[in-house]
Amino acid sequence: MSNVHAVLFMYPFQGHIIPAYNLAKKLAAKGVLATLVCTHGCYARIIKAHNGHDPFAHNVHSIRLALVSDGLPQDFDRSLNHLEFEESLLNKMEFHVEKLMEDLQRKGPPISCIITDTFYVWPDRIAKKFGIPHVSFWTEPAMVFSIYYHWDLIIKNGHYPFTGDEGELINYIPGAPALKLTDLPSYLQERDVTTLTHKSIFQAFQSARAADWIVSNTVEELDKQTIEKLQIQSGIPFCSVGPLLQPKGEVGTSMWAESDCRSWLDSKPKNSVLYVSFGSHAHVSKAQIHEMAMGLLHSKWPFIWVLRPDVVASDVQDLLPDGFEEKSKDQGLVVEWVSQVDVLSHSSVGGFLTHCGWNSILESLWLGVPMLAFPLLTDQYTNCRLIVQQWGVAMSLGHISRSSNNLRSTLVLRQEIALTITEFMNMDGQEGKRLRCNIGSVRDVMKKAVMNGGSSQNNLEGFIDYLKGIELSHFSSE
Ligand code: UDP
Repeated sequence: MSNVHAVLFMYPFQGHIIPAYNLAKKLAAKGVLATLVCTHGCYARIIKAHNGHDPFAHNVHSIRLALVSDGLPQDFDRSLNHLEFEESLLNKMEFHVEKLMEDLQRKGPPISCIITDTFYVWPDRIAKKFGIPHVSFWTEPAMVFSIYYHWDLIIKNGHYPFTGDEGELINYIPGAPALKLTDLPSYLQERDVTTLTHKSIFQAFQSARAADWIVSNTVEELDKQTIEKLQIQSGIPFCSVGPLLQPKGEVGTSMWAESDCRSWLDSKPKNSVLYVSFGSHAHVSKAQIHEMAMGLLHSKWPFIWVLRPDVVASDVQDLLPDGFEEKSKDQGLVVEWVSQVDVLSHSSVGGFLTHCGWNSILESLWLGVPMLAFPLLTDQYTNCRLIVQQWGVAMSLGHISRSSNNLRSTLVLRQEIALTITEFMNMDGQEGKRLRCNIGSVRDVMKKAVMNGGSSQNNLEGFIDYLKGIELSHFSSE
């Protein structure tokens, strides 16, 4: 065990918690004392989803859990009142972080560094206050980081807010290919760029510019050119250690109670089931849910559909069209949440209709499941570009038009959904064969990266050496 003590602040969203927890486990396995910080609100939801049990208590490594307030009462409905939640993360949480840091310092051992999700706005100030380095933890692809990092270039080129011809290309992001407006993260596509979200992300990237290291849940080989250029431009080491995945069968950190679909999946033929999920955060209009439901039904393929209770809004119930349950009972399952890694690893699952969240993509690639891309929000549009055009491991579902008000703006209709699913799920068709062949190659790259001598493994070791170096320099200055 070394004397390195890293305090890792998880961002309070499911897609950020999973990779952060798995990073903490990797650090702890290498002898780093990791204090993992979760917000009270998030922790309460995780415990509730696990019937009062604490999934973090199952970890076998030396990870300590600490809780911090995000500035709101524990039972506040953060999904329904997203603006208040964002406002609190932006303006109120820092005060509580500072108090927690003081408390942790007092109790010891001394803190060597903070590792903070890139979307927090306060890491540079906290690091400065406590005289320690700051590592920014990025949970999305390098290309998305690079786009946000070069926000100034987008402004300089008159593309923010984007008012010009939507066919115009953004061809000046270092290391990135020429991008269409709809390839950008949704917030950069919007006409109104004065929202709290824009302010938060902008401030978060100002803070990330002062980071000593960037550690990312991606794989170097998949995004090499962007990473090389980014490191030159920023002068900050960009260290890819992905994929940071929830191990199959291990107790996860789900914020919703998981349904067990194993026996249903066991009863289905190999590669016959379409798994459908829109992730933990994005919202979809009720009209789109209805079109999706009817599209699934008309396609006739077996499906498991994760429909979060708050997928439209947490005060909107009765999400499905009348009679859907009865009509689909022999064809599919609708559930609130599952262990996605377990579902994707089942041999009956032949495809994943995904909102293109980065964790979902990594999991699908890792398990060799081709994707049908249906981006909804944030980085999902850029991720969609990567999986459809760059790597050829996904088909696109429906026309993607400019994002507006945090929602996908054009409705994809049932006929198109049914036809696309039929083409996508046909393993013997040209498209099916092409996707499966490409996914095999990407999967090989990922598997190699995490083996001894692979890029992610080497980068992780380089990062641990850096952490140990901090500890030595602390030591010698005492
Ligand atoms: N997930 C899950 N069960 C579900 C739906 C999602 O375990 O029913 C997990 C999924 O495996 C992934 C995470 O939730 O690790 C979602 O992260 P992602 O980046 O894909 O999307 P986000 O939720 O951030 O939009």
